[in-house]
Amino acid sequence: MAYVDEVYARVVRENPSQPEFHQAVREVLDSLRPVIERNEEKHRREALLERITMPERQLLFRVPWVDDKGQVQVNNAYRVQFSSAIGPYKGGLRLHPSVNLGIIKFLGFEQVFKNSLTGLPIGGGKGGSDFDPKGKSDREVMAFCQSFMTELHKYIGADVDVPAGDIGTGAREIGYLYGQYKRLTGKYEGVLTGKGLTYGGSLARTEATGYGLLYLTEEMLRCNGHEMAGKTVVVSGAGNVAIYAVQKAQQLGAKVVTVSDSNGWVYDSEGIDVELLREVKEVRRARLTEYAAARPSAQYHEGRGVFRVACDVALPCATQNELDLEDAKALVEHGCIAVAEGANMPTTLEATEYLMAHGVLFAPGKAANAGGVATSALEMSQNSMRMSWTFEEVDRKLRDIMVGIFHSIDEAAKDYGVAGNYVAGANIAGFLKVANAMEAQGVV
Ligand code: NDP
Repeated sequence: MAYVDEVYARVVRENPSQPEFHQAVREVLDSLRPVIERNEEKHRREALLERITMPERQLLFRVPWVDDKGQVQVNNAYRVQFSSAIGPYKGGLRLHPSVNLGIIKFLGFEQVFKNSLTGLPIGGGKGGSDFDPKGKSDREVMAFCQSFMTELHKYIGADVDVPAGDIGTGAREIGYLYGQYKRLTGKYEGVLTGKGLTYGGSLARTEATGYGLLYLTEEMLRCNGHEMAGKTVVVSGAGNVAIYAVQKAQQLGAKVVTVSDSNGWVYDSEGIDVELLREVKEVRRARLTEYAAARPSAQYHEGRGVFRVACDVALPCATQNELDLEDAKALVEHGCIAVAEGANMPTTLEATEYLMAHGVLFAPGKAANAGGVATSALEMSQNSMRMSWTFEEVDRKLRDIMVGIFHSIDEAAKDYGVAGNYVAGANIAGFLKVANAMEAQGVV
């Protein structure tokens, strides 16, 4: 049996009931076949793939907190410190009822390669809880965050592990988490990123994932003889990534006609009004029905449907496995030329294969959404230097990083005989740096 198949079988055997983790490992190991096969016996002897698919440390803990009625609530919480080969663990905290260990492990595993692709010295980790901030009062969210950090602070630090935001963890949550860390440790240090601008945050971090997605997509289009201007774009999600993807796509001359949340989606024939979207989602924390109610050109639909709308470019920016095979078929039928993942693993394996087999340019999340973590690393640099860069400086560095990522995945794909396969290119380029650092550091 080939070494990659042996390792995949072991991952499935040892991590039962974690389908998302299996899916992420399968995709990466399949891409690595040509790399591993060049030196299979050496890699097997060094157990390189076993070590890269097994987290260095997995923390599971309970988070008790008191709700507004005086009832004690208890949530499950996780921090998976996946790899510190190239820097301190780095990755977001997800707060969503769907969170479980398998989801956090898939996200942590992806993060290792994504962080490597940025070219910055950051290892991979991820964490979160099945706590749902939706519908909770600010006091309840604070009570949860303080209790969560009371346990987590023992395992993190500016040079150890630096968490950030993700689904359900925005500026409010990061603020409460940071306050509690400072209170417990007495240290004012860059232990979290995504902080507010008044206490160590970086300009352009809020915009970074969405903007970065568009910088990479634009470069991918340009290198394949297209341009963003004039394109019709569908976006899913209406959170941090989606909002700033819509804004940057519009700045680059595209027309974005959809956004969605977990209840339904909006089609806006005039193009999404990004200021109204921000008001509904960031200020009022309301549902998209309110966007549609305020905008005559918008139609609201219950359920899913974004990827059935005719478009040139599709940007899934909500959650994992939201774009399935039927969606992929509809996109191809409508002549879609590019799909770039703003979310983590939003496209199922079957859908990814279908899109690529039908000539759709496909940028995987670990490359396309790396702008968020790259700018988090820039926030860490500013914190260490006790300095703040301007918006333009950070945005320029972000753009250079995203263009650089595109070229490194493009070149890795060409080097290994799979030109144009950016999934393989991203996995190979991300892997090579981590594997090299692991080898240099010995058996640890
Ligand atoms: P937010 O919480 O800000 O927004 C998430 C959006 O997706 C919301 O519109 C939400 O709708 C929707 N959504 C969440 N879960 C589901 C679901 N199960 N079904 C349908 N819709 C859903 O998160 P972000 O924008 O930060 O993150 C979105 C994706 O991007 C995630 O995959 C995240 O891991 C990834 N990512 C984020 C980065 C960042 O910097 N923020 C960096 C890199 C990747 P509703 O409000 O109704 O729940």
